[in-house]
Amino acid sequence: SPEGVKQAIVEALEGGWAIGATHEREVELAELVCARFASIDQVRFTNSGTEANLMAIGTALHHTGKSGIGVFDRGYHGGVLSFGPLGADGRPAESPLNVPHRFRVAPFNDPAGLDELFADDDLGCVLVELVQGSGGCRPADEAFIRELRARCDAADVVLIFDEVMTSRLAGGGAQERFGVTPDMTTLGKYLGGGMTFGAFGGSRAVMAGFDPAADGALTQAGTFNNNVVSMAAAIATLRNELAPDRLHDVNERGDRLRERLGSVIDASPLRDELSVTGLGSMLCLHATDDRLLELVFFGLMERGLSIARRGFMALSMSITDDDVGALVDGLAGVLDELTLSE
Ligand code: PMP
Repeated sequence: SPEGVKQAIVEALEGGWAIGATHEREVELAELVCARFASIDQVRFTNSGTEANLMAIGTALHHTGKSGIGVFDRGYHGGVLSFGPLGADGRPAESPLNVPHRFRVAPFNDPAGLDELFADDDLGCVLVELVQGSGGCRPADEAFIRELRARCDAADVVLIFDEVMTSRLAGGGAQERFGVTPDMTTLGKYLGGGMTFGAFGGSRAVMAGFDPAADGALTQAGTFNNNVVSMAAAIATLRNELAPDRLHDVNERGDRLRERLGSVIDASPLRDELSVTGLGSMLCLHATDDRLLELVFFGLMERGLSIARRGFMALSMSITDDDVGALVDGLAGVLDELTLSE
């Protein structure tokens, strides 16, 4: 909740907030987003990351004229685009709430698993997170992502990076860090300064579906897509809060925190039952037993430290080295206590 973002919202409201048409702030934000992300020549706004992914999928399928969508186990792209782990039978748990698209779920980080995915001639796009967020902060292998990029190129498949979470990993998003450029990118969350936000964009060729001058047949209506509050908050956030060097700092702090949490776990008798994964400012604690994870969660809470119950942590800009130190000490205290009571 940075003061500058609040001020930008208040200032914007002075000019009215139900504009009902394209307005200056929308253009300004589009230019900022295009300047940051190598893959985005043109961008459109939505109200959430879920909606951005739905629009990106539709745009990609329209572009290729195909109907299959490749996704990965444990991928999370929104409340209606959620894929669980592969079961013992090799089939994924797919949410009953998912939209009725033709999804093909492949194993994450398994180059051999791509053979089956790309055997489908009707595959139109692949949607992937460079670090699976809700799936437990599992980073993709760079080699896997390069292979995926090459396969998409060879088969005329649109590659979409869901950077709703991972764009925080570098000024130009995780795609900058991985050195791989997708055809489309989706964004959301913190980029909107904490207001309701989503965006999807990509190469001029793919986004041309929306361009009336290029006979594009697509339109994207949405009452609140360019709402003044979100546009103003996002502009202030991109201009003042998310300078690449500040993002670099918060991600380094995350890397240091992960290392230190790893050392605390290694020094504990519970070392075989706990682990920590992630990249930069995205981290997740894992336990071999759900009850152990709950005990750690409540043990930390007892010490005044709040992480997500599923072990997930994301460092915000206001978290300091002292906060990080308190979490490391807190985890050490919790593990001592659990070991003593065993
Ligand atoms: N994609 C990813 C990678 C996400 O982490 C999320 C939100 N957790 C979404 C999409 C959906 O975004 P929203 O909650 O804004 O719909």
